[in-house]
Amino acid sequence: MRPLIAGNWKMHGTLREAASLAEAVRAGAAGLSVDLLVCPPFPYIHLVAAAMLGQPMAVGAQDCHAAAKGAHTGDISAPMLRDVGATHVILGHSERRADHGETDAAVRAKAEAALAVGLVPVVCVGETEAQRLAGEAEAVVRRQLAESLPDSFAGIIAYEPVWAIGTGRTPTEADIAAIHATIREALVARFGASGQATRILYGGSMKPGNAKAILALPHVDGGLVGGASLVAADFLAIAQAA
Ligand code: PEP
Repeated sequence: MRPLIAGNWKMHGTLREAASLAEAVRAGAAGLSVDLLVCPPFPYIHLVAAAMLGQPMAVGAQDCHAAAKGAHTGDISAPMLRDVGATHVILGHSERRADHGETDAAVRAKAEAALAVGLVPVVCVGETEAQRLAGEAEAVVRRQLAESLPDSFAGIIAYEPVWAIGTGRTPTEADIAAIHATIREALVARFGASGQATRILYGGSMKPGNAKAILALPHVDGGLVGGASLVAADFLAIAQAA
């Protein structure tokens, strides 16, 4: 499967910085044999998407509301994201689950909203450190998949152990491979052939130095990159390692 390297810019940067980061990634993307996706903060999506028009690089958002429109002050709908040029949306990131109390059911409703307008949902799952130490990582991920994915799911999964995000720590290669195999098995059991073809990204302190080994593991079909996606050279080095 052709790998996807996705950048989650989180709540970083100015408009000017977003434009120059997007341009640097675009300029370095030629000739790569991977798909690229960048997910800027909401206010910068339109600009970055316009700059990427006609480029082999997708632009996504970091969240959307479950409703298409309505009285939801401060929220952004999936149709609005489509309207400004996004093609993907990250859903259920652990920072949203923690900061905004997003449940699996909420993530599922958002994924349905995204799919309804043709946005590709990138649904994040992953255990906390306490859950891993308690031997519950696999069960947590299975439960998140069962409850966060709609029956009509056609998107991307990102396995992001919460304790690996922004910490410089990663699971062992064996632990990453084991969870990715579990995810694949759960996807195939529920969705059949389309589960086999679903990309499963790894996310959590992926850097140029560890990307090659992680991206070579079975059922690791790309990466969701946070901190390192803010430096074009690092993001591109990860893409080159895929
Ligand atoms: C993320 O937040 O999706 C992420 C993977 O962050 P980082 O790469 O900084 O750990």
